Amino acid sequence: MPFLDSHCHLDRFFREGNLPAILDRAKAAEVNQLVTIGTEPEDWSIYRELVHSHPNLIAYTVGLHPNEVKEDWQQVVAAIDEHLVGERRPVAVGEIGLDYFRLPKDESKAAPLKDLQKAAFASQLALAKQVDLPVVIHCRDSFNDCLRCIDDAGIDWAKVVFHCFSEGPDQVLLLRERGGRASFTGIITYGSAENVRQAALAQGLDRLMLETDCPYLAPAPHRGNPNEPAFLRHTAKFCADLFEIDLETLGQLTTLNARTFYGLE
Ligand SMILES: [Zn+2]
Ligand SMILES: [Zn+2]
Repeated sequence: MPFLDSHCHLDRFFREGNLPAILDRAKAAEVNQLVTIGTEPEDWSIYRELVHSHPNLIAYTVGLHPNEVKEDWQQVVAAIDEHLVGERRPVAVGEIGLDYFRLPKDESKAAPLKDLQKAAFASQLALAKQVDLPVVIHCRDSFNDCLRCIDDAGIDWAKVVFHCFSEGPDQVLLLRERGGRASFTGIITYGSAENVRQAALAQGLDRLMLETDCPYLAPAPHRGNPNEPAFLRHTAKFCADLFEIDLETLGQLTTLNARTFYGLE
């Protein structure tokens, strides 16, 4: 039975030479498909090569992560175009969004940085709309602003996933009523994350997608250690118990949901 890691970052494994071992362990855990998510031009290029060498295993996305947005963002976003032509194109634009977590507490210092992130986000949403690709949203301490930007962009919400969802059921319903969805990392296995579990249940199985977001955020029982795609299985088992269905059904459903969302075979 196949599992699919709908959001991982393989660039560090590649740079450190660990990728073959990581992919072997993923296969041994029946995690048979990986979507590796772009954050800046350096990883986009690595991922394009990986998709060429592993076409049935790996798909990739391109996007400028909000934490990577600098004054030169327009030039960087323009470079996405090079990836949108030719074979083995990206399957989504992302991860893009707003991240207010690391900004200065002083609002007069934070405001211009928020404006920069919003401009880069709006530009990439417009691009995704133009080329008709789904979008992977990174949203941290910025939920209402993210909603507003996406509403303003006029994107089809069926093509929107808020990844690493860490809000509660009220917020997930705001996505759901628009036609959007949330995907869940190992955070859902953490003792303190009751609101995240309630959000997953409120969204329901029909839109559930699972991800590792590795190398960050390892699920229990690996919490605190580096994460990898094979550990998706722990999150899947946890969610099967949460939804009171068997692991095989959970795996089939979430894999189908992610394949449909990204347009994968
Ligand atoms: Zn993210
Ligand atoms: Zn990520």
